[in-house]
Amino acid sequence: MVLVASPWTSAPQGGILSRLIFVATMVKAVVFDLGKVLVNFDYMIAARRIAARANISAEQLMAMLVGSPVFPRYERGLISREQVFEEVRRVSGFQGTMEEFAVFFGDVFSEIKPMIELQAALRKGGLATYVFSNTNDLAIEHIRRAFPFFGNFDGYIFSYEHGLLKPEAGLYEVLERRSGRRGGELLYLDDRPENTQAGAARGWGVILHESPEKSRQAIRNAGLLV
Ligand SMILES: [Mg+2]
Repeated sequence: MVLVASPWTSAPQGGILSRLIFVATMVKAVVFDLGKVLVNFDYMIAARRIAARANISAEQLMAMLVGSPVFPRYERGLISREQVFEEVRRVSGFQGTMEEFAVFFGDVFSEIKPMIELQAALRKGGLATYVFSNTNDLAIEHIRRAFPFFGNFDGYIFSYEHGLLKPEAGLYEVLERRSGRRGGELLYLDDRPENTQAGAARGWGVILHESPEKSRQAIRNAGLLV
């Protein structure tokens, strides 16, 4: 890792760039959100495949499920995949099996290649990398099977395994315990401002992910990419 400046030589009033340079001198681990950072997702793909075997349209199914408490409860680990399946059957009349539902529900992701390359480069440079996600077991099973890059992290913190959702502080504490890192030793990328703000409040370095180009540049500016 190249240190572009020590904390003592970067101007404290110098704005985001000098703050990132400051952070880079101590960063030991990079924390990646999953959805919209490492993988894109489109639940209309699932809605269409389910609706093709049900009594309602994909649009109607999406509209019913978007406002439903089922998915936040599923991501919190309060209910099982079977209970989600039962709920989808109840509202849609879906006639497929649990196994078919699992395939339809999980197969909604696509890799964001430049971010996967960025993670690989950071890890090769000696930094630990973590996945930190509000997610569910069907999604993770599918992603693990479909995308080899997903095996190349030092640790995984998933909401459903801990009964906590970002931006709740408890899930950030889990990451700190698992990684043995805290504060400015952690640099965290997430596309949701409430999540990065909760990290910043703990002293983590944060990047609000808007595009692979911008995040790569921010990390490069921080001196974390040679
Ligand atoms: Mg996200």
